[in-house]
Amino acid sequence: MDFSAASDAGLVRSHNEDSFALVPLSDGALLAVADGVGGSRAGEVASEIATETFVALLSSPATGGEPDSARLREALEAANERILEQGQSSEHQGMGTTMTCAWVAHQRLAYAHVGDSRLYLYREGLLSRITQDHSVAEELVRRGSLPPEQAVHHPQRHVLTRYLGLHPLDCDEGTEDLREGDVLLLCTDGLTDALSEREIEQELAAGFDGVALRLVEAANRAGGPDNTTVAAVRIEAPDAGGTSR
Ligand code: MG
Repeated sequence: MDFSAASDAGLVRSHNEDSFALVPLSDGALLAVADGVGGSRAGEVASEIATETFVALLSSPATGGEPDSARLREALEAANERILEQGQSSEHQGMGTTMTCAWVAHQRLAYAHVGDSRLYLYREGLLSRITQDHSVAEELVRRGSLPPEQAVHHPQRHVLTRYLGLHPLDCDEGTEDLREGDVLLLCTDGLTDALSEREIEQELAAGFDGVALRLVEAANRAGGPDNTTVAAVRIEAPDAGGTSR
């Protein structure tokens, strides 16, 4: 499998509250992106707790076999407990984070997701989104009370309805079959605010090598209004063997 990841504070924010994880396994990979929220850098703490808990619970030697979204949900539940616990201190009060994570092996994907970071599948030149945003704007679209094209500019597109740091945890999870050549792309909203899905698709069409950095640079050229994080993996043939970075 080939990997690509990059994260940048952007041109407006003074620090980066996004976190990501990219862990090669003997037969696959773990990927996660998290976008923290909360004052005085508490968001940074929350997003780090999320990705660290995910890696600690999933990257053990015991992780093998078929990707299982229930294991990912358990990691999100553990991260949620830790964030709620540490969020009781005055320093980190009310902190939270989005979290989109994936476990890929044997041409199979399991994912779990909460918040408005996203998971995309790029297959045969076409980009399709797998996750739904847990934002006020997208909930309105799902209920049929807002046209989809208006969600992009809706004033409440960044108001999260679900995230880590909220009890009880309400995350989405799922599995998908993958094919050789598929690219999975996880990103925070810094990317999808700065670039259209068409622009992301065009960058992927230009080749996989270094795509995460190219996307982050493109987001910065578009103004870099937010922290931008991208983690991507390209699926190879089942018996291609080995991993490269
Ligand atoms: Mg963001």
